[in-house]
Amino acid sequence: MKILVINCGSSSIKYQFYSLSESRILAKGIVEKIGMKGSFLKHEKESGQKVLFEGEILDHKIGIEYILGVLSSEKHGCISSLDEINAVGHRVVHGGEEFSTSALITDEVILALEKFIELAPLHNPPNLRGIYAIKALIPEIPQVAVFDTAFHHTMPQHAFMYAIPYALYKKYGIRRYGFHGTSHRYVSSRACEILGVDPKTVKVITCHLGNGASACAIKYGESVDTSMGFTPLEGLIMGTRSGDIDMGAVSYIMDKEKIGTKSASILFNKHSGLLGITGISSDSREILAAADKGDERCILAIEMFNYRIKKYIGAYAAAMGGVDVLIFTGGIGENSVSTRVSVCKDLEFLGIEIDQEINAGIRGEERIISKEGSKVKVMVVPTNEELMIAIDTQNIVYGKE
Ligand code: AMP
Repeated sequence: MKILVINCGSSSIKYQFYSLSESRILAKGIVEKIGMKGSFLKHEKESGQKVLFEGEILDHKIGIEYILGVLSSEKHGCISSLDEINAVGHRVVHGGEEFSTSALITDEVILALEKFIELAPLHNPPNLRGIYAIKALIPEIPQVAVFDTAFHHTMPQHAFMYAIPYALYKKYGIRRYGFHGTSHRYVSSRACEILGVDPKTVKVITCHLGNGASACAIKYGESVDTSMGFTPLEGLIMGTRSGDIDMGAVSYIMDKEKIGTKSASILFNKHSGLLGITGISSDSREILAAADKGDERCILAIEMFNYRIKKYIGAYAAAMGGVDVLIFTGGIGENSVSTRVSVCKDLEFLGIEIDQEINAGIRGEERIISKEGSKVKVMVVPTNEELMIAIDTQNIVYGKE
């Protein structure tokens, strides 16, 4: 069973080509700078050999043509014909209130996704472009949409509603949707697999800490709360997003700076977070390095970042009436030893005790990092959204094995 997983961003397309029955990634790569000068496709073969193709990649359809071309090319490819692709799975950011699970893409599904462009104007349009391109280029091959929002459908209403006039929820669908669902779902189920426990018996908090960051409370296998909201702007402090902020401060800034909604959106999405506080970078590696050299704003940014995560862990432990497993994932969660130490510090009262020695050696690998006797199992689980998309795609198109 060969599944192509596609993740279309505004100017990029990431892809991974799986042979699931053999647990192999046959190829992967990225198309970058779509519609810009200097666009290229970077393709990596199963052997690890990398090939670069430069070209005029004006839109997502051309990008996907490049991908299909290289996958089936004699010299660099891994299939002799495109018919060998059994299905294509797409990452789709927003599935609104309609999609509680991944879905086979039909014309009706495409119509629904077009409707959700209003809710995710930055993300759903490129996701759709990928779907249109596959439909045009290899129309017989089934496609599946895997939504970032779907996992959070189990949130109870008291967790997903905002305390604004109810009519606005009815009229515009203003509520918490949550994102990163595929990642929270993957790492929580993988952690349970590693621990040998049934997800239906444990309370889990997942911290996806990357350039985008969110936390999720997963009670007995279901998401019951998550930190991102109506958009991915709410919650934790991120690379360039503010996370939680008083709405009163937003309108005050807009008044004082005489800016409209578009500029405000750019301010809070692109110029805030770690970048906004440090004034140097959104990249935690650079910030950690500058903090080590004594840069005060970098030290502050790190303290704020960690403190916000700690608060959410406390809140979610309270929301679930306890916590059994705490998981770190995402580029920062998987790699930053000091972030994990700082976040877990003083959480012993919740039963969270990490083993400093084990933690210090863990970067980007699956591992229990809590002390032998820690009530809460603290774990590092590298995320793998692509694998989850491939598995969902196979299950939907061909049924569960
Ligand atoms: P992601 O969005 O999941 O790819 O994560 C990107 C973030 O992970 C960036 O802020 C990187 O600086 C951070 N990151 C990657 N490797 C490390 C590392 N070794 N230590 C600290 N942060 C890291």
